[in-house]
Amino acid sequence: MVHLSKLKIDKTWTLFLDRDGVINLHYPNDYVKHWDEFFFLEGVLDALKKLSGVFKRIIIVTNQQGVGKGLMTGNDLQFIHDEMLKEVRKYGGRIHAIYSATELVANDSKNMRKPATGMAKQAKKDFPEIDFAKSIMVGDSVTDMQFGKAEGMLTVFVGDVAKLQPAHEKLVDAYCESLGDFAATIARQ
Ligand SMILES: [Mg+2]
Repeated sequence: MVHLSKLKIDKTWTLFLDRDGVINLHYPNDYVKHWDEFFFLEGVLDALKKLSGVFKRIIIVTNQQGVGKGLMTGNDLQFIHDEMLKEVRKYGGRIHAIYSATELVANDSKNMRKPATGMAKQAKKDFPEIDFAKSIMVGDSVTDMQFGKAEGMLTVFVGDVAKLQPAHEKLVDAYCESLGDFAATIARQ
């Protein structure tokens, strides 16, 4: 376990965030297909404002296979993200990039879909100063933890620990109830 409050996080660190279940309400076995289905989880906008003051960059990495399945278009997803970013900015937060893995599993030849790390590699290409040893991945799924660990990031699991099997525990460096809880802990350092 890593004590988040003891980490010395400064403006050389990067925060990677999963989207569904971390930033907004996750619909089990479904997708957020329209902006009116997108609901920020409690405390998230305030958390993003706080975290923006701590990390150099905040980057979202999200699996959105609903596009590949034809349940929404790439434009629908873009619109949702544009509106999300407007709200985040309105509250004083900053998100520097959003990477979405939209292909069907069978078509994911670039290994973009978490737990594969194509989105982390793309972020490093776009922002070469990213140091994965000074990066934290926050997510609510085992695949988020696998994604972070595969690139040597610290991993923080938020939400329902019942999703984890004992074998997964070594993938998790710290647990938080929510992104709000994570931000409060980090801001306390
Ligand atoms: Mg999630």
